Amino acid sequence: MVDEKENTADPEIWVLAERQGKKWQSVTLELLDDAAVLAKRAKWQVAVFVFAKPMDVTDKDCEELAAHGANHVYLMENDDFCEPNGPQKYWAVLENFFVGAKPRLLLAPSTPLWVECVSWLMARWDGTVVSDGVSFKLSPDGDLSVTRYAWRGEAQMTLSLGKDHPWCVCLRPDVAGVGKGNSRAKAEITRRQELSDNNEGVNVKEVFSPDPGDIDLLEADRIVAGGRGLNGAEGFQLLEGLANQLEAGVGATRVAVDLGWVPYSRQIGQTGKAVKPRLYIALGISGASQHVDGMSGSEVIIAINNDPNAHIFKLCHLGFVGEAEPIMQALMKALDPKLESSELVAASKGK
Ligand SMILES: Cc1cc2nc3c(=O)[nH]c(=O)nc-3n(C[C@H](O)[C@H](O)[C@H](O)COP(=O)(O)OP(=O)(O)OC[C@H]3O[C@@H](n4cnc5c(N)ncnc54)[C@H](O)[C@@H]3O)c2cc1C
Repeated sequence: MVDEKENTADPEIWVLAERQGKKWQSVTLELLDDAAVLAKRAKWQVAVFVFAKPMDVTDKDCEELAAHGANHVYLMENDDFCEPNGPQKYWAVLENFFVGAKPRLLLAPSTPLWVECVSWLMARWDGTVVSDGVSFKLSPDGDLSVTRYAWRGEAQMTLSLGKDHPWCVCLRPDVAGVGKGNSRAKAEITRRQELSDNNEGVNVKEVFSPDPGDIDLLEADRIVAGGRGLNGAEGFQLLEGLANQLEAGVGATRVAVDLGWVPYSRQIGQTGKAVKPRLYIALGISGASQHVDGMSGSEVIIAINNDPNAHIFKLCHLGFVGEAEPIMQALMKALDPKLESSELVAASKGK
């Protein structure tokens, strides 16, 4: 059991922070911006929880959280944090932290780890969780309403959570955008060494990337797609290697499907799937309108084609004129310099 903290007079919003390398994930600042708006209106306090390895997060890093609305930053430090482990370590810390105290609202990134973590916590606190959130609003009489994605992002719905809290909203990253922040704002920082919980119900033994051929294209953040210019199923074998490295889904044109190089489930376009990844890499694809119909909503499109006049170059953000195979090999080598040339040749031959 860790220290007790008296219940503060003002209700609190707790925000779970996430970092990538030395930077805050943009979703952390988005959550804080949203929390700050609500806190200002409702006269609540914002506390942000950071799970990190000892001394990985500096006081200067915390200033950025203060700039985006945190009143209090709790740095929970342990060598086991930020490893590929399950959520139990995190919810156990949160549950024990304020004995008997709960936030009015808990905000977390809508990612598998945090959705699972807060679901455990809310089950114990008898609270309500909404994942895939886009925005939320507190009515003057104290009801929280949350707008969330439904039907794989095809529709949105608004849920009213009523007055029964604690509420928990998991917000999709990169929806709200990050505001400017106020660099003069200050936050109280509490640094704590957390004990390791040796009674984990779940031990993660191995973490491996999903098979790119199995990634659901409608959910994929990144897609590497190929067309006739890959010249056969072997070309797709190499493309799969690249997709694997990028943890991307494999997509294809109708021609590639009709030729039997990939199954229909991978087809993108008017008579296939309509996708909206953050990154779409098109290899050996001409950019016919029926294909473009299914991928033009991608955030960033990179095209590789040996014909400088290919239509795909008119809509891509970054284009390379050249042969697909050597460019794929060069990309794979750049992503993993330890890859032997023989492995790349074997991959391109489908071995
Ligand atoms: C009713 C209807 C529905 C359709 N629905 C779909 C759909 O859902 N999805 C879909 O994709 N298509 C669909 N099509 C087909 C569509 O019209 C195109 O025929 C198809 O998208 C073209 O596929 P592609 O780009 O692989 O082939 P191509 O148009 O033949 O283009 C191949 C490209 O590869 C390049 N290339 C060749 N060799 C290399 C190399 N070595 N390195 C690099 N680049 C190279 C070429 O320059 C060319 O630009 C539909 C068509 C109809 C009529």
